[in-house]
Amino acid sequence: QNSTANKLIELHEQAAKLYHHILVNTQAGKQALNYLQQRGLSSDIISQFNIGFAPQQRLLSPFFKEKGIDYQRLRQSGLFIEDQEGKLRDRFFDRVMFPIKNPQGKIIAFSGRLLSTENTEMPKYLNSPETEIFNKRRVLFNFDVARKSARKEQKMILFEGFMDVIAAYRAGVTNGIASMGTSLTEEQVNMIERVTSQLDVCYDGDAAGQNAIRRALDLIATQSNRLQLGVIAMPAGVDPDEYLQQNGAPSFKQMLVDAAETPVAFTLHFLRQDLNLNNEADQLNYLNSALKVIAQVKTPLEQDVYLNQLVNEFQLDKESLQAQMQQIIRQTA
Ligand code: ATP
Ligand code: MN
Ligand code: MN
Ligand code: MN
Repeated sequence: QNSTANKLIELHEQAAKLYHHILVNTQAGKQALNYLQQRGLSSDIISQFNIGFAPQQRLLSPFFKEKGIDYQRLRQSGLFIEDQEGKLRDRFFDRVMFPIKNPQGKIIAFSGRLLSTENTEMPKYLNSPETEIFNKRRVLFNFDVARKSARKEQKMILFEGFMDVIAAYRAGVTNGIASMGTSLTEEQVNMIERVTSQLDVCYDGDAAGQNAIRRALDLIATQSNRLQLGVIAMPAGVDPDEYLQQNGAPSFKQMLVDAAETPVAFTLHFLRQDLNLNNEADQLNYLNSALKVIAQVKTPLEQDVYLNQLVNEFQLDKESLQAQMQQIIRQTA
């Protein structure tokens, strides 16, 4: 079992080396290298993350066959797709290859990105399938690096995509992680809380990102009572990588600090974003949902801060807000 895992890891390490070589040293990788440079990735960063390119033509199947690697082992690796005659063909082609590592820094899977998403039905990112060494529920991109840097920074930052983690790294923020293109899982929350007690969630500034933040906050709230949470709300329409491209590293780092808010503050902003608070019905609607959120705040002081905000913003009587909140608490008890 253990030696099978090691052999599968060894295949991935060799594949990553080959993909990287093709990207940085060959004509077949030229276009992909240009693409990455245009996205602001230096040679150092490309090496640091071991980024590569899977070319159009079949690559790994002849490479590993020549080395005499066992057919069953190749099948188990997830690097191939089996055709109807049982022949193994490269799963990844014509994609920029991001190695996915386990917490010890060993490569256990890949995610491949298309150079262009125009005129294609193919998924933008394609991940390795689940294998003996890769369970995507238990993997976080850059976790091997981030867990070391989190010791110093005392926190981790959870991004939505690999390119966001890499963007942060380019700006000197090395404690970024990302899940594998899916919602955060219980297993990932457990991994994170074993390393740090503070997690900032920084997802894309679009509706999908906002909703994903809400799901992540709910999961963490029910799953962990140790993890302190922050939300870094991106400006509308951009993701962290785009923000860095547009504004540069100093502004990016400042944004990570300035845009940080508590989960409650984030949720209150979220609840009101599509409402017209000059309209009475919308206002009552917002007050009710805001009180539901504030009712769940566990510390009296924090609860008071948010209640006072409602009192001041809407010129209300604090006692009636408190009475209403008690009613909500009784109804939901
Ligand atoms: P890029 O900047 O390269 O376009 P992104 O990270 O901004 O990528 P998003 O569309 O915001 O991409 O998606 C966030 C993450 O979700 C990606 O990093 C990837 O892990 C995953 N993802 C996106 N599209 C797909 C897809 N079609 N299939 C599988 N995973 C995907
Ligand atoms: Mn997104
Ligand atoms: Mn994005
Ligand atoms: Mn992006």
